[in-house]
Amino acid sequence: MLVYKFGGTSVGMPERMHKVARLITHDDEPKIVVLSAVSGTTNALVEIGELLLERKQDEAKQKVDDLKKHYKDFIKGLYATSEGSKQGDAIIEKYFSEIGALTHIPDFNLGNNKTMLAYGELLSTHLFHYYLLEANIASVLLPALDFMTIDEHGEPEIEEISRKLMPLITDKKGLYITQGFICRNRDGKTDNLLRGGSDYTASIIGAAIKASEVQIWTDIDGMHNNDPRIVDKTYPIRELTFDEAAELAYFGAKILHPSSILPAQKYNIPVRLKSTLDHEAPGTVISNTSSDVDVKAIAAKAGITAIKIKSSRMLLAHGFLRKIFEIFEKYKTSIDMITTSEVAVSVTIDQPRYLEAITEELKHLGLVEVDQNQTIVCIVGSMVSAKKGVLKRIFDAVSDIPVRMVSYGGSKNNISMLIDSGYTSEMLKALNKGLFE
Ligand code: ASP
Ligand code: MG
Repeated sequence: MLVYKFGGTSVGMPERMHKVARLITHDDEPKIVVLSAVSGTTNALVEIGELLLERKQDEAKQKVDDLKKHYKDFIKGLYATSEGSKQGDAIIEKYFSEIGALTHIPDFNLGNNKTMLAYGELLSTHLFHYYLLEANIASVLLPALDFMTIDEHGEPEIEEISRKLMPLITDKKGLYITQGFICRNRDGKTDNLLRGGSDYTASIIGAAIKASEVQIWTDIDGMHNNDPRIVDKTYPIRELTFDEAAELAYFGAKILHPSSILPAQKYNIPVRLKSTLDHEAPGTVISNTSSDVDVKAIAAKAGITAIKIKSSRMLLAHGFLRKIFEIFEKYKTSIDMITTSEVAVSVTIDQPRYLEAITEELKHLGLVEVDQNQTIVCIVGSMVSAKKGVLKRIFDAVSDIPVRMVSYGGSKNNISMLIDSGYTSEMLKALNKGLFE
C-alpha cells in the first residue's frame, strides 16, 4: 500500500481538490490519502482559540462566521450536483455547530483549544470524501481519532497505531482518506502533532502499515540541487538518504520537516516528494540507501552569527571547550558549526537572542570577536574521505570568495562553509559551476 499526503495548498481551492481526486485515482494502487486542512483554516482556528483563551468571545464568534462563509463559498465550486451541495452544506453545518459550541464555553481551556484545532482536517477530509462519493469514486474515510495516538511525551505509538489501524483496512485494494495532524493523547482527548504535522501523520501511517512508499505531494518537483531563486537550471535530486535530507532540510530546503520523517526512517519506508503539477515526474526519493554520488546538493542558510574565542590559555589546556559549551547551554543556544585551532575556537549560532549575555560571559575565557550577517553554505552528498578530489573541486570552485570557516569530517554527508552573506549568490553560482556543470 502507498501513503499519499496533500498539504493545505493542495486542497486549498475546489479545483485543487478535484485535482487531488484525479491524482489519487490515476492508477489503482491501494492507498491511504492523508489530507491537511484547507489552507488558512488552521491559522484561523489558532486565532479563534487565542481569542477564546483571552475571553474575547465576540471577536472569536466573528472569526468563526467569516470562516464558515469561506466554506460555504468553497463548496459552491466543489460539488457538481445539488445533492452534493446539500451534503456539503450538512457537513459544514455539523462542524460549525460544534465549533460554535466551543465558543460558548465560559472557561475555554487549552484542551478545548486542541479540540478546536482539529476541525480544519475534519472539514477538509469530510468535504473531500463526499466529493469522491459524488464522483462515484469508491473510498473509505478512516477517522484519525480512531487510531492515531501519542504517548505522554507526545510521541506516536507506532505499534499501537498499527494494531488499531490494520483491522480498519478491510479492503487491501481500497482507497482510504484520513486526517493529517490530529490524534488522541494519553487521556483519550483530541490532540495534535504540532503545526505542519500532516507530514508526520503520513510518515507514522507509512511505518504503521509498512507501506511500500510514503509520497508527500506539493507544488515543487522535489528537493533541488541548488537554490532555484539564485542559480539557473537547478534540477530535482533523484535520491537522498534520510541523513542527507535532514542536512538539507535544516539548511533551507523548507520542503519537508526532518523530524517528521523519523518514523519512516526507523521502519525503512521510502519517502518520495512528488509534484501535483507534474505527476509523471519521479520527484525525490528519500530512503536508507541511495546512490553513492559525492556531491548531490548545495544549500545556504542566512542569519548566522559567528563567534570566535581566542585565548593563549587554551594552549595545551583541557576543559576549555567544556567551559565554552556550558555558556551556550546556559542560554539554551545551540551551536551549528564549530572549528578549532590550538589557541582559538569559532562557533556559529542561528539564534542570537542571548548573544550579548553569551559574549559577556565568553570574555572571561579570552578575546571574543563576533561577526553577524553570515551565511552557512552546506554541500551535501556522500563524501567519504576515501573518495579523491572532492575537496579540491570545492576549494577550486570558491577560490575567489573569502571563506570565514570550513567544517569537514563531522559527518560524511556534509561540508559546511561560512561566508559573509553578501557573497551568497556568488558562492552558490561558483559552486554550481565547479560541482555540477
Ligand atoms: N493543518 C495543520 C497546520 O496547518 C497541519 C498541516 O498542514 O500539516 O499546521
Ligand atoms: Mg500546512
